Amino acid sequence: MTTLLETRALEAFYGDFQALFGVDVTVGEGETVALIGANGAGKSTFLRAITGLLPAKGQKVSFDGQEIAGLPADRIHKAGLAMVPEGRRLFPSLTVEENLLIGASGGRKGPWSLAKVYDLFPDLVAKKNNPGTALSGGQQQMVAIGRALMSNPRLLLCDEISLGLAPKVIKDIYEAVPRIREGGTSILVVEQDVGQAMAVASRVYCFMEGRVTLSGPPGELTRAEIAAAYFGTK
Ligand code: ATP
Repeated sequence: MTTLLETRALEAFYGDFQALFGVDVTVGEGETVALIGANGAGKSTFLRAITGLLPAKGQKVSFDGQEIAGLPADRIHKAGLAMVPEGRRLFPSLTVEENLLIGASGGRKGPWSLAKVYDLFPDLVAKKNNPGTALSGGQQQMVAIGRALMSNPRLLLCDEISLGLAPKVIKDIYEAVPRIREGGTSILVVEQDVGQAMAVASRVYCFMEGRVTLSGPPGELTRAEIAAAYFGTK
Protein backbone atom coordinates (compact mmCIF):
# COMPACT_ATOMS: atom_id res chain seq x y z
CA MET A 1 0.00 0.00 0.00
CA THR A 2 1.31 3.46 -0.89
CA THR A 3 1.85 5.69 2.11
CA LEU A 4 -0.08 8.95 1.84
CA LEU A 5 0.56 10.60 5.21
CA GLU A 6 3.49 9.83 7.47
CA THR A 7 4.54 11.56 10.67
CA ARG A 8 7.64 10.49 12.53
CA ALA A 9 8.47 11.85 15.99
CA LEU A 10 5.94 14.65 15.52
CA GLU A 11 5.86 17.33 18.22
CA ALA A 12 3.48 20.28 18.60
CA PHE A 13 3.35 23.16 21.05
CA TYR A 14 0.94 25.85 22.23
CA GLY A 15 3.48 28.45 23.30
CA ASP A 16 5.63 26.70 25.92
CA PHE A 17 3.11 23.91 26.43
CA GLN A 18 4.01 20.71 24.58
CA ALA A 19 0.87 18.92 23.38
CA LEU A 20 2.37 16.15 21.18
CA PHE A 21 5.42 14.00 21.91
CA GLY A 22 7.05 11.81 19.27
CA VAL A 23 3.91 10.87 17.40
CA ASP A 24 4.30 8.32 14.57
CA VAL A 25 1.21 7.91 12.40
CA THR A 26 0.82 6.64 8.85
CA VAL A 27 -2.19 6.59 6.57
CA GLY A 28 -2.02 4.58 3.37
CA GLU A 29 -3.73 5.33 0.09
CA GLY A 30 -7.35 4.11 0.30
CA GLU A 31 -7.29 3.51 4.05
CA THR A 32 -9.71 4.63 6.76
CA VAL A 33 -7.76 5.26 9.97
CA ALA A 34 -9.19 6.37 13.32
CA LEU A 35 -7.59 8.32 16.15
CA ILE A 36 -9.18 7.59 19.52
CA GLY A 37 -8.50 8.92 23.00
CA ALA A 38 -10.05 10.88 25.84
CA ASN A 39 -10.62 14.66 25.97
CA GLY A 40 -7.34 16.51 25.76
CA ALA A 41 -5.34 13.50 24.52
CA GLY A 42 -4.02 15.47 21.54
CA LYS A 43 -6.15 14.22 18.63
CA SER A 44 -7.28 17.64 17.40
CA THR A 45 -3.78 18.98 17.94
CA PHE A 46 -2.49 16.24 15.63
CA LEU A 47 -4.93 17.37 12.92
CA ARG A 48 -3.94 21.02 13.42
CA ALA A 49 -0.25 20.16 13.18
CA ILE A 50 -0.54 18.22 9.91
CA THR A 51 -2.77 20.85 8.28
CA GLY A 52 -0.42 23.73 9.09
CA LEU A 53 -2.76 25.42 11.56
CA LEU A 54 -0.16 24.80 14.26
CA PRO A 55 3.59 24.61 13.62
CA ALA A 56 4.69 20.98 13.28
CA LYS A 57 8.12 19.80 14.39
CA GLY A 58 9.62 16.37 14.04
CA GLN A 59 11.73 14.06 11.96
CA LYS A 60 9.14 13.76 9.23
CA VAL A 61 5.74 15.09 8.26
CA SER A 62 5.20 13.95 4.70
CA PHE A 63 2.15 13.89 2.51
CA ASP A 64 2.17 12.15 -0.83
CA GLY A 65 5.97 12.02 -0.69
CA GLN A 66 6.35 15.76 0.00
CA GLU A 67 7.59 17.24 3.28
CA ILE A 68 4.78 19.52 4.50
CA ALA A 69 6.04 20.71 7.91
CA GLY A 70 6.36 24.48 7.76
CA LEU A 71 4.20 24.90 4.65
CA PRO A 72 1.32 27.39 4.97
CA ALA A 73 -2.12 25.85 5.51
CA ASP A 74 -3.38 26.84 2.05
CA ARG A 75 -0.49 24.99 0.35
CA ILE A 76 -1.20 21.87 2.43
CA HIS A 77 -4.88 22.14 1.50
CA LYS A 78 -3.94 22.43 -2.16
CA ALA A 79 -1.75 19.33 -1.81
CA GLY A 80 -4.91 17.41 -0.93
CA LEU A 81 -5.58 17.52 2.82
CA ALA A 82 -9.04 18.82 3.79
CA MET A 83 -10.50 19.06 7.27
CA VAL A 84 -14.05 18.67 8.54
CA PRO A 85 -13.61 20.74 11.71
CA GLU A 86 -15.06 19.91 15.11
CA GLY A 87 -18.31 21.86 15.50
CA ARG A 88 -18.89 22.00 11.69
CA ARG A 89 -18.27 25.78 11.42
CA LEU A 90 -20.66 26.51 8.54
CA PHE A 91 -20.91 30.08 7.29
CA PRO A 92 -24.18 31.14 8.95
CA SER A 93 -25.23 33.80 6.42
CA LEU A 94 -24.73 31.49 3.42
CA THR A 95 -27.03 28.83 2.01
CA VAL A 96 -26.20 25.14 1.99
CA GLU A 97 -25.18 25.35 -1.66
CA GLU A 98 -23.02 28.42 -1.10
CA ASN A 99 -21.31 26.68 1.82
CA LEU A 100 -20.59 23.72 -0.45
CA LEU A 101 -19.28 25.89 -3.30
CA ILE A 102 -16.91 27.71 -0.94
CA GLY A 103 -15.28 24.35 -0.28
CA ALA A 104 -14.18 24.13 -3.90
CA SER A 105 -12.13 27.33 -3.79
CA GLY A 106 -8.42 26.77 -3.40
CA GLY A 107 -8.89 23.03 -3.84
CA ARG A 108 -7.90 20.53 -6.50
CA LYS A 109 -9.60 19.28 -9.63
CA GLY A 110 -11.19 15.86 -9.24
CA PRO A 111 -14.34 13.78 -9.16
CA TRP A 112 -16.28 15.67 -6.47
CA SER A 113 -18.97 18.15 -7.55
CA LEU A 114 -22.24 19.54 -6.15
CA ALA A 115 -24.11 16.70 -7.89
CA LYS A 116 -21.85 14.07 -6.29
CA VAL A 117 -22.27 15.60 -2.83
CA TYR A 118 -26.06 15.67 -3.23
CA ASP A 119 -25.90 12.06 -4.38
CA LEU A 120 -23.96 11.18 -1.23
CA PHE A 121 -26.30 13.15 1.05
CA PRO A 122 -29.74 13.32 -0.66
CA ASP A 123 -31.24 15.03 2.44
CA LEU A 124 -29.41 18.19 1.40
CA VAL A 125 -31.13 18.57 -1.99
CA ALA A 126 -34.37 20.02 -0.60
CA LYS A 127 -32.38 22.28 1.74
CA LYS A 128 -29.90 23.69 -0.75
CA ASN A 129 -31.31 27.24 -0.64
CA ASN A 130 -31.73 27.28 3.15
CA PRO A 131 -29.15 28.88 5.42
CA GLY A 132 -26.82 26.22 6.74
CA THR A 133 -27.74 27.08 10.29
CA ALA A 134 -31.44 26.28 9.67
CA LEU A 135 -30.55 22.60 9.32
CA SER A 136 -30.53 19.82 11.90
CA GLY A 137 -27.18 18.98 13.48
CA GLY A 138 -26.82 15.89 11.28
CA GLN A 139 -27.57 17.84 8.10
CA GLN A 140 -25.07 20.51 9.12
CA GLN A 141 -22.50 17.78 9.54
CA MET A 142 -23.31 16.52 6.03
CA VAL A 143 -22.73 20.04 4.67
CA ALA A 144 -19.41 20.25 6.53
CA ILE A 145 -18.29 16.91 5.04
CA GLY A 146 -19.56 17.90 1.58
CA ARG A 147 -17.76 21.23 1.77
CA ALA A 148 -14.47 19.48 2.48
CA LEU A 149 -15.07 16.96 -0.32
CA MET A 150 -15.66 19.79 -2.80
CA SER A 151 -11.92 20.53 -2.63
CA ASN A 152 -11.26 16.99 -3.93
CA PRO A 153 -8.93 15.98 -1.09
CA ARG A 154 -6.73 12.91 -1.25
CA LEU A 155 -7.10 12.62 2.53
CA LEU A 156 -10.23 13.77 4.38
CA LEU A 157 -9.71 14.62 8.05
CA CYS A 158 -12.85 14.37 10.19
CA ASP A 159 -12.75 15.79 13.72
CA GLU A 160 -15.43 14.23 15.95
CA ILE A 161 -18.15 14.12 13.31
CA SER A 162 -20.52 12.20 15.61
CA LEU A 163 -20.32 14.65 18.52
CA GLY A 164 -23.77 15.66 19.80
CA LEU A 165 -25.70 13.67 17.20
CA ALA A 166 -28.38 11.01 17.74
CA PRO A 167 -27.33 7.36 17.10
CA LYS A 168 -29.51 7.07 13.96
CA VAL A 169 -27.93 10.22 12.50
CA ILE A 170 -24.43 9.01 13.35
CA LYS A 171 -25.20 5.78 11.51
CA ASP A 172 -26.39 7.72 8.41
CA ILE A 173 -23.24 9.84 8.40
CA TYR A 174 -20.87 6.92 8.88
CA GLU A 175 -22.59 5.07 6.04
CA ALA A 176 -21.10 7.72 3.76
CA VAL A 177 -17.53 6.81 4.78
CA PRO A 178 -17.12 3.71 2.57
CA ARG A 179 -18.65 5.57 -0.36
CA ILE A 180 -16.18 8.43 0.08
CA ARG A 181 -13.32 5.94 0.20
CA GLU A 182 -14.57 4.10 -2.88
CA GLY A 183 -14.37 7.47 -4.67
CA GLY A 184 -10.61 7.40 -4.06
CA THR A 185 -10.37 9.58 -0.94
CA SER A 186 -8.55 8.23 2.13
CA ILE A 187 -10.04 9.11 5.52
CA LEU A 188 -8.63 9.92 8.95
CA VAL A 189 -11.32 10.23 11.63
CA VAL A 190 -10.93 11.50 15.17
CA GLU A 191 -13.56 9.72 17.22
CA GLN A 192 -14.27 9.54 20.96
CA ASP A 193 -16.71 6.69 20.42
CA VAL A 194 -14.37 3.69 20.43
CA GLY A 195 -17.02 1.29 19.07
CA GLN A 196 -17.68 3.57 16.12
CA ALA A 197 -13.97 3.98 15.43
CA MET A 198 -13.41 0.21 15.53
CA ALA A 199 -16.35 -0.37 13.17
CA VAL A 200 -15.20 2.05 10.49
CA ALA A 201 -11.39 1.93 10.53
CA SER A 202 -8.90 -0.58 9.20
CA ARG A 203 -6.39 0.70 11.78
CA VAL A 204 -6.71 2.75 14.94
CA TYR A 205 -4.26 4.83 16.95
CA CYS A 206 -4.99 5.53 20.60
CA PHE A 207 -3.68 8.83 22.00
CA MET A 208 -3.11 9.65 25.66
CA GLU A 209 -1.44 12.78 26.99
CA GLY A 210 0.05 13.67 23.62
CA ARG A 211 1.50 10.23 22.86
CA VAL A 212 0.39 7.24 20.83
CA THR A 213 -0.17 4.52 23.42
CA LEU A 214 -1.51 1.78 21.14
CA SER A 215 -2.06 1.18 17.43
CA GLY A 216 -3.16 -1.61 15.15
CA PRO A 217 -6.08 -3.15 13.26
CA PRO A 218 -9.23 -3.27 15.46
CA GLY A 219 -9.41 -7.07 15.26
CA GLU A 220 -5.96 -7.42 16.81
CA LEU A 221 -6.57 -5.18 19.85
CA THR A 222 -8.20 -6.48 23.02
CA ARG A 223 -10.63 -4.49 25.16
CA ALA A 224 -8.15 -4.56 28.02
CA GLU A 225 -5.37 -3.17 25.84
CA ILE A 226 -7.63 -0.41 24.56
CA ALA A 227 -8.82 0.51 28.07
CA ALA A 228 -5.23 0.71 29.28
CA ALA A 229 -4.16 2.81 26.29
CA TYR A 230 -7.21 5.10 26.54
CA PHE A 231 -7.42 5.69 30.27
CA GLY A 232 -3.96 4.72 31.44
CA THR A 233 -5.41 1.91 33.59
CA LYS A 234 -3.33 -1.19 34.20
P1 ATP B 1 -10.91 16.91 22.56
O1 ATP B 1 -11.71 15.70 22.37
O2 ATP B 1 -11.24 17.63 23.84
O3 ATP B 1 -10.87 17.83 21.36
P2 ATP B 1 -8.21 16.17 21.90
O4 ATP B 1 -7.69 14.78 22.05
O5 ATP B 1 -8.54 16.62 20.53
O6 ATP B 1 -9.43 16.35 22.85
P3 ATP B 1 -6.55 18.47 22.02
O7 ATP B 1 -7.65 19.45 21.80
O8 ATP B 1 -5.64 18.17 20.90
O9 ATP B 1 -7.14 17.12 22.56
O10 ATP B 1 -5.70 18.96 23.28
C1 ATP B 1 -4.43 18.42 23.63
C2 ATP B 1 -3.83 19.28 24.73
O11 ATP B 1 -3.54 20.58 24.22
C3 ATP B 1 -4.73 19.47 25.94
O12 ATP B 1 -3.94 19.48 27.10
C4 ATP B 1 -5.34 20.84 25.70
O13 ATP B 1 -5.66 21.47 26.92
C5 ATP B 1 -4.21 21.57 24.98
N1 ATP B 1 -4.72 22.58 24.06
C6 ATP B 1 -5.59 22.39 23.05
N2 ATP B 1 -5.84 23.53 22.39
C7 ATP B 1 -5.08 24.49 22.98
C8 ATP B 1 -4.87 25.89 22.78
N3 ATP B 1 -5.49 26.52 21.78
N4 ATP B 1 -4.02 26.51 23.61
C9 ATP B 1 -3.39 25.87 24.60
N5 ATP B 1 -3.51 24.54 24.87
C10 ATP B 1 -4.36 23.86 24.07
